[in-house]
Amino acid sequence: MAWFARGLRQGVDAMDDDSRAPVSPGLSPGRPLPTPAGQMDDASLCPTGALEVRAGVTVPDYARCVQCLRCVRAGAPIRWEQSYRWAVSRTGALGPAFRRSIHVRVLDAGDCGACLAEVRQLTSPVYSLHRFGIFVTPTPRNADVLMVVGPVTRAMRTAMRETYAAMPEPRRVIATGTCALTGGVFAKSVAVEGAVSRVIPVDVEIPGCPPPPLAILHGLHLLMGREGPGRPDPR
Ligand code: SF4
Ligand code: SF4
Repeated sequence: MAWFARGLRQGVDAMDDDSRAPVSPGLSPGRPLPTPAGQMDDASLCPTGALEVRAGVTVPDYARCVQCLRCVRAGAPIRWEQSYRWAVSRTGALGPAFRRSIHVRVLDAGDCGACLAEVRQLTSPVYSLHRFGIFVTPTPRNADVLMVVGPVTRAMRTAMRETYAAMPEPRRVIATGTCALTGGVFAKSVAVEGAVSRVIPVDVEIPGCPPPPLAILHGLHLLMGREGPGRPDPR
């Protein structure tokens, strides 16, 4: 019972996504950074074609990177950051009325399971999504945000279009994970249409394979107007 008494004395240990910014690889796998080509210039190492040497700099394309770590384990490693502010907004926040609370419909368009598992982590006591006023809803008619994980499979195209059509304005779409951004490792499959943006408009992009829960939280906070954008996409 000692742990219980200690918990009562100290309060609930839910993680603050700002003041205790994580540096542990367990919370964020990290991602490559633009690196002088003299330090790392072997773009052929990348299995997904995410590296390009441009004007003397090796530049990662986050929409293609699957965080396989090959470039960081190379003899001359690429620079690597242990961050989580990965979301990029293409259209802006929802507006002042949505600063305190939003409802999110999560749609699995064909993911491998890992992106969805990271989204589920948000409701665990560690991330405690609800304390931010963010709630998951099963019905698109109550949803402000459609969060899509996975590449869009041909079987899910119509369901996704109809889910989006059923949402009230203003509505926003978050493409979550490399597959949702470009089709990722499934892009060439005959069963896959590709990126979410080929079917419905995308407002926020969250790269990562899968993106860690804090990167997904960053995307939600961007839409609520509570967070600024992260490091600009080097593309
Ligand atoms: S981590 Fe892997 S996929 Fe990402 S840029 Fe490096 S080699 Fe490419
Ligand atoms: S981005 Fe990676 S983790 Fe997410 S669905 Fe695609 S393969 Fe799976």
